[in-house]
Amino acid sequence: MLRIAIQKSGRLSEESLKLIKECGISFINSSLKLKTESTNFPLEILYLRDDDIPGYVADGVADIGIVGENVLVEEGMQQLAVEQLGFSKCRLSLAVPKADSYTNLSDLEGKNIATSYPKLLQAYLDENGVQAHIHTISGSVEIAPSIGLADAICDIVSSGSTLISNGLKEVERVFKSQAVLIANQSLSEEKHAILDKLLFRIHAVQRAQRAKYILLNAPNDKVDTIIKLLPGIKSPTILPLAEEGWSSLHSVVNEDDFWEIIEKLKDAGAEGILVVPIEKMIK
Ligand code: ATP
Ligand code: ZN
Repeated sequence: MLRIAIQKSGRLSEESLKLIKECGISFINSSLKLKTESTNFPLEILYLRDDDIPGYVADGVADIGIVGENVLVEEGMQQLAVEQLGFSKCRLSLAVPKADSYTNLSDLEGKNIATSYPKLLQAYLDENGVQAHIHTISGSVEIAPSIGLADAICDIVSSGSTLISNGLKEVERVFKSQAVLIANQSLSEEKHAILDKLLFRIHAVQRAQRAKYILLNAPNDKVDTIIKLLPGIKSPTILPLAEEGWSSLHSVVNEDDFWEIIEKLKDAGAEGILVVPIEKMIK
């Protein structure tokens, strides 16, 4: 049995549970409980506050966990990281009141900066040779300048709308973060084997998320040109259509290249293009 710690309720919770479910792991979903056990995989889920997750994993109370890199590095536990998971992407940024003039980081020399991430901020200031007073507060950091507590803040930003609605502007990016899978460093052989199984499934889910299955029809004399545009897993599947002189081509394309390829395919004579999601992709 492997025990995973995930955030009980917050910005990591939904995506963490979704990833576990997409790995085909079922459990009774009750976020009111402190823990649940899977009905079809040797996994037990512990629901915790995100800040507690690295410590619990380091101590072995939980074997693995999902947490933001910002929290992991702030707690000085980077050594627990197994791999990035690609969700809950955000950044830790410095922001000042919109009306303040700002040219570069040296403008913050000697100023008061409020943050919940004193270590990450201190490391960034040190790296850049700037000295400032860091005020550590645990929440509502964005209101610190308006109540006179600080000249600037260093806080988590994703779209930037919270900053704008508090009359602030983002001036420096301090740290880039996303969700990361962490693990205790002395897992038993049995637990390691379960973790490897879980990682195998996570990789299949991640590959599938980036890939799309594409189906299209083309006149036979255009097939060669179109094949060159389709970077399939091996090579595209070609099936004859009932209509004489036409074929159906199937392949897999990466989401990132997707729109560019679609345009080229249309230009090359492809018709009836269908793009469908892939649920799992095993290599
Ligand atoms: P807890 O009650 O568990 O202590 P919290 O209030 O400290 O929760 P959340 O706001 O739920 O934490 O954020 C959890 C993590 O999600 C953050 O540490 C960060 O990695 C990520 N995160 C925070 N804000 C955003 C955002 N706007 N977009 C995407 N990810 C974010
Ligand atoms: Zn927290």
